[in-house]
Amino acid sequence: FNYPLPANEPVQSYAPGSPERASLKKALVELKKKPLDIPMYIGGRAVKTGKKIAIRPPHETSHVLGHFHMGDDKNVQQAIDAALKAKEAWANMPWEERAHIFLKAADLLATKYRAYINGTTMLGQSKNAYQAEIDSACELIDFLRFNVHYLSEIYRQQPASSPGIHNRMEWRPLEGFVLAITPFNFTAIGGNLPTSAAMCGNVVVWKPADTQVYSAQMFMRILKEAGLPDGVINLVYVNGPALGKACFTHPDFAGVHFTGSTGVFNTIWETIGKNISKYRTYPRIVGETGGKDFVLVHKSADVDVVVTALARGAFEFQGQKCSAASRAYIPSNLAAAVKSKLIATVNSMKMGTVENFGNFINAVIDEKSFHKITGYIDRAKDDKKASILVGGTYDKSEGYFISPTVIEVKDPRYPSMVEEIFGPVLSLYVYEADDFDKVLSLVDSTSPYALTGSILAQDREAVAKATAGLRNAAGNFYINDKPTGAVVGQQPFGGARASGTNDKAGSMLNLYRWLSARTVKETF
Ligand code: NAP
Repeated sequence: FNYPLPANEPVQSYAPGSPERASLKKALVELKKKPLDIPMYIGGRAVKTGKKIAIRPPHETSHVLGHFHMGDDKNVQQAIDAALKAKEAWANMPWEERAHIFLKAADLLATKYRAYINGTTMLGQSKNAYQAEIDSACELIDFLRFNVHYLSEIYRQQPASSPGIHNRMEWRPLEGFVLAITPFNFTAIGGNLPTSAAMCGNVVVWKPADTQVYSAQMFMRILKEAGLPDGVINLVYVNGPALGKACFTHPDFAGVHFTGSTGVFNTIWETIGKNISKYRTYPRIVGETGGKDFVLVHKSADVDVVVTALARGAFEFQGQKCSAASRAYIPSNLAAAVKSKLIATVNSMKMGTVENFGNFINAVIDEKSFHKITGYIDRAKDDKKASILVGGTYDKSEGYFISPTVIEVKDPRYPSMVEEIFGPVLSLYVYEADDFDKVLSLVDSTSPYALTGSILAQDREAVAKATAGLRNAAGNFYINDKPTGAVVGQQPFGGARASGTNDKAGSMLNLYRWLSARTVKETF
């Protein structure tokens, strides 16, 4: 079964008067009218515990979209049991049949459920229509289709044989179950982590962030409709300790596919390390973690390109992308022009609910994030080493709104230049325009992360210098573009250092981690 390289799912525009805009508006109204009672999905059963947690749109906290049923470690144990029960039949199912289930899910997302998956992402995660479209529709569809393609390529890879000897490679799933832990910020990541492991024949326990449950359950229902057998992916809503208690001491724990913050990933790795002797096999540990992504501007850069890269890179989805531009290095010769144009652009950004499609900025995900982000803003307000160029206001009376904020720092190692803030805050440092070599080592050494970064320059020599000098500073490096917006199949995504294991989601590299090859030699 050879599935050719697919084309990326086209992005719909949601322009006024377009049919997709009308159906999305309709879905939003329907979703808001009908509060959901959301069960966990374990072994194909809808499991309700009665411990209900309300889901509210981050931009309208007075509204309740529904409730999900919180589970505990016993539910996780049930999920592991259901996964292990489903394992043999799933692993032995012909690959073509497995692939067709995920391709069917991609088609359902592209057609019947496009408005609903985007609607749940918009309301549950406060993403505007365009950001939801590129996430929960296009990126998730692309992950499913491209992974089927990459896996069909992997399965075809075979060693050489010689006269009288036939060698072959069996691409087996891992022994045991895989745990997928997903963050709030991308519905597509929520969908990709459990399905990429499952596609390889593994069975999965999937724990999404609490703030992602609304879109995650929608995708789970789509997988079910596409024909995913019971128990292959089990969706549970539990806290970290309950998850850890059941999974990380289990002998059949075969690996974890994690996306989230660096601190949580470190805790997970340490726990696995402490329990290593309990496992039947060495678990695979894959993590996509935090970022402190840079935009380095050279004195030759075009000011308009710089301003667009900064404004879009830093503030789309309120800066809650692991790849968001969050520290910028501006040469002194361009500083005045960049600052004044950036301030004007930021001031023109409209902020409000997702239901008004004209709003560029919506709310940040929850109260905890709101306080973390505004803490950085308040500190800059009170500090001589920093000043607020634009923004700096916030209000949580109706939702968690923080205006897009640019902080200018005098110290290039000021905390907002080093630590991941994960919100609509861009820190900017002006360097002496002729000190480009010095600034290269500053960019490389300032932060422990190495996820994404950009060089903006018209001078090709400067581009070459930055590309070489910043080789290890970013897993995804952009030349004359913002550091966000990786497209599946085009820019495989992931970083190293404190940003993860760099197993490039949506690529063969990632799929190899969920396979355990057996070499078979037959002699005639
Ligand atoms: P997070 O707080 O680290 O949570 C991620 C997931 O881990 C959630 O499902 C969370 O569940 C769970 N979790 C928390 N504590 C746990 C524990 N002790 N044991 C097991 N699981 C635990 O991250 P987030 O706020 O959702 O997402 C933002 C972070 O993700 C940022 O750091 C961002 O850079 C990173 N990210 C990275 C990439 C990448 O590709 N590198 C992509 C997207 C996001 P709860 O909701 O129950 O806490």
